[in-house]
Amino acid sequence: MTIEELRFIADRMLGKLSTWLRVLGYDTVYAADLNVNSTEVDEDKAIADFTQAESRVLLTRDKELVAAATREGVQCLYIKADDVMAQLNELLLYYNDNINLEPVPARCSECNARIRKVEEGEADMLMNKSYVPASIIGHCDFWICEHCGRIYWEGSHWQNMRKMLNQLRTH
Ligand SMILES: [Zn+2]
Repeated sequence: MTIEELRFIADRMLGKLSTWLRVLGYDTVYAADLNVNSTEVDEDKAIADFTQAESRVLLTRDKELVAAATREGVQCLYIKADDVMAQLNELLLYYNDNINLEPVPARCSECNARIRKVEEGEADMLMNKSYVPASIIGHCDFWICEHCGRIYWEGSHWQNMRKMLNQLRTH
């Protein structure tokens, strides 16, 4: 399955996993962002309905949610581990290693929207973001999320992620 074909929704307990999947290019909705505020049972139903309507795969640590989703015929994967690396490993096993483990600048890890490359003439916009070190502007590629405005670049954060992902590969 390609990155475009596999789309997820992660439950409230899997915020970190959503972030990682987005960095790996997967369209991943975080259930807490759905803004369902009613009883727990209604929330499970709402999550299951959303998953079904969007043909996503539900990732959850909640056995009751698994039960509710399965009843509705939703494709879902029960995640056992606490640690995000172990969780990614569960995904790898489930999908027979067909999970991309290379960070790709495709999605905003904050909001899941697509990101686009920042053009040469947009240096001013980068200067206005206090978290972008001025010294690197003009020296590397940047991406912006048009939805929330977050700027991304291939810095130490990605290098650390890549190192951790490489350890997963040796399994
Ligand atoms: Zn964003």
